[in-house]
Amino acid sequence: MTLETDYLVIGAGASGLAFADELVRRSDAHVTLVDRRDAPGGHWNDVYPFVRLHQPASFYGVESIELDRGDLEASGPNAGYMSLSEGPEIVAYFHRVMREKLLPTGRVRFVPMSEAEPGEAPGPVTVRHRLSGERTTITVRRKLVDASRFTNAVPATHRPAFDIAPGVVCVPPNDLPRRVGGFEHHVVLGAGKTAIDAVCWLLAQGAPAASITWVVPRDSWFFNRAKVQPTMAHFDSTFTSAAEQREAMAAATSVRDLGHRMEACGAWLRVDPSIEPTMFHFATVSEGELALLRRVGRTVRLGRVTAIEPGRLRLHRGDVEVPAGSLFVDCTASALSYKPPVPVFAGARLTIQMVRIPQPTFSAALTAFLETQPGSDDEKNACMRPVVMTDTVDDYPRSQLTDLANRHAASRIPAVRDWLSRSRLEGFTHLLADIRPEDAARMAIVQRIRVASQAAFENLQRLAAMPRGA
Ligand SMILES: Cc1cc2nc3c(=O)[nH]c(=O)nc-3n(C[C@H](O)[C@H](O)[C@H](O)COP(=O)(O)OP(=O)(O)OC[C@H]3O[C@@H](n4cnc5c(N)ncnc54)[C@H](O)[C@@H]3O)c2cc1C
Repeated sequence: MTLETDYLVIGAGASGLAFADELVRRSDAHVTLVDRRDAPGGHWNDVYPFVRLHQPASFYGVESIELDRGDLEASGPNAGYMSLSEGPEIVAYFHRVMREKLLPTGRVRFVPMSEAEPGEAPGPVTVRHRLSGERTTITVRRKLVDASRFTNAVPATHRPAFDIAPGVVCVPPNDLPRRVGGFEHHVVLGAGKTAIDAVCWLLAQGAPAASITWVVPRDSWFFNRAKVQPTMAHFDSTFTSAAEQREAMAAATSVRDLGHRMEACGAWLRVDPSIEPTMFHFATVSEGELALLRRVGRTVRLGRVTAIEPGRLRLHRGDVEVPAGSLFVDCTASALSYKPPVPVFAGARLTIQMVRIPQPTFSAALTAFLETQPGSDDEKNACMRPVVMTDTVDDYPRSQLTDLANRHAASRIPAVRDWLSRSRLEGFTHLLADIRPEDAARMAIVQRIRVASQAAFENLQRLAAMPRGA
């Protein structure tokens, strides 16, 4: 079988959908999305049932459909903060995007259950159906779009990197609600967002704190949810925090010092103030969630797990005993992907990557917008340098340097500036458009951010050049 399309998008996850949504809104192009899954939404189709966004829903998803319910979290550790969508809502949202926005244009085709085998662009792409094995050749008239570069590894689809002895019950968090109840002890493995969700879920369901062991291979800095609330009602605290963070970046004498300055201004949080975090994955938590995490009966900090045996955990830096018959919850999937950056715009190929961190869907939508604008690849790439995802806190200065450089370059292109001022997914800039020039207090906050950004950019270069661990 052969098909034709203007843009062939590999991956119908959040990135591919945010790209397609913006492209079909702004052009007459025909788009084909291919995914090896049976439905749009990427990894959200495999998430554990109690997952929630960790950023406000108001700036997640695709540009044309709001995800936010428009209310505040009514209860739980995030009460009073902007709403965080639940997993099933996010999956339903992405299915709706396909069904109600993309397909009705008559210019979008979705090819599910199919593995793309791209060759050199431009040129035909072979797509193999995973069930029938049938191969389809798709002729790409304009561009091949790789929206699969950051395909997430989630607990349900990854294979644990440790040995599990016979008789040990180790489940992904997807199975936790179903399996829990018959175990007196729970051991949560991992220290990322998924593990935090699992610990908080257990405590929220009434598991005694003493019945939880939390294995924390590395401690992490987290964003403080209180400072990531982009609404006019929270304007002063959110934008003052942005200024304080840039000032911390400008004044820090080392990466370690930067972490402490971020903590001192309330922008970053850590579970245990006596431990120096080394990890940084841009996870966002609230003080309420931290309070729950601090209640955990026992925290094991002996590095990564190498094996689980009945009554025993083996880790890189030693072994510990755990109650026999514990339920182990595997939250060790890396989720993030660390592929080396490539140019976003490269002739007949577009590779969607994060150009604003941590905003994958905004980045994809901006890529689509720029694709509809005149200009050479070099001109577009000047404000679209890929920001490499951070793993450690040492990676943070470099990520901010690229992020700031992109912001600066984008602000010099009038059409992009205009798009940013209205973009829902950018989250913050559109709030600035509502400030009246006579509002001296808020204008002062904005000016403070501008001044600090320049100084931050200069000092971040020094911090990025320092030896790791400095
Ligand atoms: C638990 C969790 C919570 C998160 N919370 C947030 C949050 O609050 N805010 C935020 O901004 N981000 C969050 N993220 C990050 C999240 O990764 C991104 O927001 C986004 O969903 C990534 O989408 P994606 O399309 O890039 O990747 P994916 O969702 O992994 O989609 C990629 C798709 O490409 C398909 N694919 C890959 N290769 C091929 C091929 N050769 N042929 C066909 N199909 C292919 C895959 O099947 C997959 O469906 C979270 C991630 C996790 C795991």
